[in-house]
Amino acid sequence: MQFEIVIMDKISVRRVRELEAVGRSVILQGWVRTRRDSKGGFSFLELNDGSCVPNIQIVADADLPTYETEIKRLSAGCSVTVCGLVKESSGRGQATEVQATEVTVHGWADPQEYPLQKKRHSFEKLREWAHLRPRTNAFGAVARVRNAVSRCIHDFFQKHEFLYVHTPIITASDCEGAGEMFRVTTIDPKKVPTLADGKVDYTCDFFDRPAYLTVSGQLEAEIYATALGKVYTFGPTFRAENSNTSRHLAEFWMVEPEMAFYELNDNMQLAEELLRWLGHALLDQCAEDLQFFCDRVDDQVFTRLQNLVQEKEFARVTYTEAVELLKASGEDFEFPVSWGSDLQAEHERYLTERKFNAPVILYDYPDTIKPFYMKANDDNRTVRAMDVLVPAVGEIIGGSEREDRLDVLETRMRDQGLNAEDYWWYVDLRRFGTVPHSGFGLGLERMVQFVTGMANIRDVIPFPRTPGSAEF
Ligand code: ATP
Ligand code: MN
Repeated sequence: MQFEIVIMDKISVRRVRELEAVGRSVILQGWVRTRRDSKGGFSFLELNDGSCVPNIQIVADADLPTYETEIKRLSAGCSVTVCGLVKESSGRGQATEVQATEVTVHGWADPQEYPLQKKRHSFEKLREWAHLRPRTNAFGAVARVRNAVSRCIHDFFQKHEFLYVHTPIITASDCEGAGEMFRVTTIDPKKVPTLADGKVDYTCDFFDRPAYLTVSGQLEAEIYATALGKVYTFGPTFRAENSNTSRHLAEFWMVEPEMAFYELNDNMQLAEELLRWLGHALLDQCAEDLQFFCDRVDDQVFTRLQNLVQEKEFARVTYTEAVELLKASGEDFEFPVSWGSDLQAEHERYLTERKFNAPVILYDYPDTIKPFYMKANDDNRTVRAMDVLVPAVGEIIGGSEREDRLDVLETRMRDQGLNAEDYWWYVDLRRFGTVPHSGFGLGLERMVQFVTGMANIRDVIPFPRTPGSAEF
């Protein structure tokens, strides 16, 4: 069978810009970015279809039948189909251009009303136009990088024989034990059924019990890991934390591998390999978009990725050592550092950006600041937790070895005020064929921030959900 038998073919802007396209008759479809009329009796259209940052230049001669009536009225945002012949271009920064034989307009965009005029808008302003911002260079590039990160995450785990399992979005258990969960209910807030003592009668609710949107797929992933070995879940997670920062969303995506027979060191090794693999793959697959971010957003984009992929091991530092380093730093932190308190973003940033200028893995955290499922160390005061910190973002991965001893787990649950009976199925995994096992969560948006240098997490997810904001 022969390919390329169709002479007239739809092609993306990305492909038509390649020299190999010269000589082909093509169909291009997209949105006009600009129109320039030349004195010689023709017009240039810059067309973009979201396949790459640069546009394709269309040359439309005055003898086209719709030239005066339509082509000369085109402006930013209009949608068109262009048929034409690909030619070599003498213009700067472009190998090819398209000589139009036909231009069909699908939709006009009144230049008095269309918000995305030539002037550059701030990312803050563009958040108000989340329905139009993917038509800009920056948000097109973010969408492509986000796609590439997602695909590479799957590639990595599939290559290493992990099974992709789908964990539920609606759950009755609070994995992080932090209580920052969104409630899922069909109870009418105007007619709340109550018990004799005044408490809500959840037997009248849809699930016969309180239910929430998940904060993590980990507990369910452990079920599959302790049956099938190596698994990962990759989906949306929800946290009702009222923190208005540039690194927190109420709805974000997380990839969570969970591995049987992995101890903390194996877990760290896997986290490191995943990040390195992503670095290599993105340098390879997204060079043009990364160049855009490097030129327009953050000139450290390539430096950071190149540091990441270098073969040297990430620094591995215990929480206790980190506290000592922070105390000795002489920095004037907003939040004081003391053993037993959670590290703040400013502390994480100091360690990864200033102290090590490289990714750092912190491990062995105080048991008082970590959830019940993390494995206790013999010192009776720390657990086998690990966080990976990277420059520009701070914490990008959080994980641990899981407590696999029944009695220790039950004690930890009791200490944290949890009822082991509510988690009977989780506890059962320690009663039947328990194994050492570990896992972690990598925030997709934080990874995209790290790669692109985009400062605000609201700009690396198409439709950010944050306190007080759920438009679109
Ligand atoms: P942080 O300390 O930054 O609030 P966390 O310790 O609560 O994060 P984990 O529960 O360890 O986060 O979640 C694992 C990973 O998920 C984090 O390392 C981060 O990459 C990502 N993540 C956590 N919370 C959020 C959020 N609200 N928005 C976006 N990503 C998040
Ligand atoms: Mn964490």
